[in-house]
Amino acid sequence: MRTLVTGGAGFIGSHLCERLLADGHEVLCLDNFFTGRRTNVAHLLGDPSFELLRHDVIQPVLVEVDRVYHLACPASPVHYQYNPVKTVKTNVMGTINMLGLCKRVGARLLHASTSEVYGDPAEHPQTESYWGNVNPIGLRSCYDEGKRVAETLCFDYYRQNSVDIRVVRIFNTYGPRMLADDGRVVSNFVVSALRGKDLEVYGDGSQTRSFCYVDDLVQALRGMMNQDSEVGPVNLGNPSEFTIGQLAELVIELVGSSSAVVYRELPQDDPTRRQPDITKARQLLDWEPTTDLRDGLGRTIDYFETLLQTDSVDT
Ligand code: NAD
Ligand code: UDP
Repeated sequence: MRTLVTGGAGFIGSHLCERLLADGHEVLCLDNFFTGRRTNVAHLLGDPSFELLRHDVIQPVLVEVDRVYHLACPASPVHYQYNPVKTVKTNVMGTINMLGLCKRVGARLLHASTSEVYGDPAEHPQTESYWGNVNPIGLRSCYDEGKRVAETLCFDYYRQNSVDIRVVRIFNTYGPRMLADDGRVVSNFVVSALRGKDLEVYGDGSQTRSFCYVDDLVQALRGMMNQDSEVGPVNLGNPSEFTIGQLAELVIELVGSSSAVVYRELPQDDPTRRQPDITKARQLLDWEPTTDLRDGLGRTIDYFETLLQTDSVDT
């Protein structure tokens, strides 16, 4: 099985490449290194079944593969808002290029969509049948609407060209190899707590998210790719819901930090509540996240502790 992972040098992509190699795949990892790092896959470079290609998905790529995990896209609000036009191009042109590749070579494509397609959800928890509440012209829309049109493209290539698609909507996922200066809440809080700096909670901290440990997610991604009965969309995430205030207190406790919590302005269109309904994934994939937040945060804290000792990371 020859498998292409776009965005393979990123946080989730690098864990996925690792698991696919362990499953016996030949893995072609494609990345433009915007938010991904060679160091995330450096330990795989010696494996004869692993190949790393610097490429931007906005440009077509001609390779022979059986499967494509399409993850290429910055995922943190800080990074996807850095160059919003590029984020839209990555989602639209990048997804067209990868679907076109799959059409030519007859490969199956799994698209990494997001809970952001639900926007600031008026339904709670979110099921796949909910169409969402997205501001089409806001600061987050380059990502939200980009991912929505990427889903549209997947389904149109499926209906029009019989491309074999799988679409998953990933909810907040965390773990080792997030960037220390990534801007996402788990890495921000852990890095601040380890440095004894204030943890900055945006808004009053009452907004909620449901955090999934990366190993649980990678297992579900493989399960979704390997099953033949459902194209999706399927929610993937951990339904345990926490306020951002609770997360801050937990990180401070687990790090044993003297950091304080301070409050900053809430960014535009920040979703108020988010929790996946994973009934479909449970039934289809016989899957359940097994890592609770304390365990997952513990492993993430260990990773950043080592990183901060060896790296000069500026946040
Ligand atoms: P990440 O930023 O670590 O990974 C994204 C990878 O894509 C990086 O390696 C980056 O360099 C690469 N990339 C970006 N633009 C590219 C381009 N134009 N061409 C080639 N490579 C490009 O983020 P992640 O958390 O690993 O997210 C991976 C995927 O999962 C993304 O598509 C993201 O939208 C989706 N997702 C992640 C989460 C989460 O909580 N982590 C939630 C929902 C969806
Ligand atoms: N957040 C925060 N402090 C930070 C980073 C994020 O309070 O240092 C909040 C953010 O406003 C949001 C939640 O944490 O309500 C999750 O943010 P993240 O960027 O991780 O993910 P997303 O908003 O895309 O779910």
